[in-house]
Amino acid sequence: MKTIYVDNNATTRVAPEVVEEMSPYFSELYGNPSSMHFFGGQVHSKVEEARERVAGLIGARPQEIIFTSCGTESDNTAIMSALESNPGKRHVVATRVEHPAVKNLVGHLKREGYRVTELPVDRDGLLSMDEVSRVITDDTAIVSVMWANNETGVLFPVEEIANVAKSRGVIFHTDAVQAVGKIPINLAENQIDMLSLSGHKLHAPKGIGVIYVRRGTRFSPYIIGGHQEEGRRGGTENVPYIIGMGKACELAANHLDDVKVRVKGLRDKLENGLLEKIPNSIVNGDRDQRLPNTSSISFEYVEGESILLKLSDNGICASSGSACTSGSLEPSHVLRAMGVPFTAAHGSIRFSLSSYNTEEEIDFILKVMPPIIEELRAISPFWDGSVARSCTPCLLYTSDAAD
Ligand code: PLP
Repeated sequence: MKTIYVDNNATTRVAPEVVEEMSPYFSELYGNPSSMHFFGGQVHSKVEEARERVAGLIGARPQEIIFTSCGTESDNTAIMSALESNPGKRHVVATRVEHPAVKNLVGHLKREGYRVTELPVDRDGLLSMDEVSRVITDDTAIVSVMWANNETGVLFPVEEIANVAKSRGVIFHTDAVQAVGKIPINLAENQIDMLSLSGHKLHAPKGIGVIYVRRGTRFSPYIIGGHQEEGRRGGTENVPYIIGMGKACELAANHLDDVKVRVKGLRDKLENGLLEKIPNSIVNGDRDQRLPNTSSISFEYVEGESILLKLSDNGICASSGSACTSGSLEPSHVLRAMGVPFTAAHGSIRFSLSSYNTEEEIDFILKVMPPIIEELRAISPFWDGSVARSCTPCLLYTSDAAD
């Protein structure tokens, strides 16, 4: 059975060029980049080349790039740094749809006595700029808003939000883990202070991340140790992965046009085809302000997990918008924050494409999916032929339901 991988927001295939570039640094070129001898020196140069490549992808200066272990560490570093370098300020602003790397950290900070505002989103997953301005106070240490949502692909106006934060003297951080490599980013042209990215979302390995810190931003390290990364992140560098990250960023810069045009075309073909062939299917999230590779679709009156298993039986790897917790299928905090009705949130599937996907794969999904939904609806207590039975108290997860 052929594997059709359309779960690239979860993780991506490591590009063969990346593996090739990393390979010698596991074996023959094993020097420590901090060593004085030539053997470490050549590794040091390659690490610096990787830094330049990462900076090149996002319009940063190489000195503004700090290598970390993952996107989660970068997010934690940004928020904790802002709090540590502004000890008098006790207020943090984020959104209700952040990835757990931010969401659970701000939840922890709330329990520690910080004041946290999680901005609501509307039914399309969009934020209100007025609301952003309204919640910032003199006590705000940081505003952290993701660039692109991992479930729906919805893009937030982070450059505009950065301007608002800046005008109020507040640090602005964006979790750009899902955005980097999918849309052009030029930090030379905006006022974003800190930005997180993660290797495994852009065809580098899992376990390597980056935090960008704009020159002049007050910064406090999260991992305190040696002098590595100019004292901004302790710990001997993960040399092969850093080199892989550099190569992946170079490739991503070359693939941006492919993602913008071809991958988006495949995503649109898949989405429009499914909406046309399957009644009671709804796209989650604004269809314009969205990543070019992501489609979150709810198939009403069926369970996402059942769809995923059937897709998996056909070699198709996607994700659902609910998580199986303590035996009950709980819709994700993102869909709840958007107020997606219970019956739709349960049957939501996320397809996320990459440059490795082909038209044949999309055609195959379009062939396989309609009978799967039909079969599952036939056994659904809530579905009666072509319409829903008047079953649904249609529990609405309003924005207030999100934590
Ligand atoms: N932020 C977003 C938006 C993500 O999608 C992810 C990963 O799923 C992360 C942060 C965490 O990145 P990592 O897995 O590298 O810790």
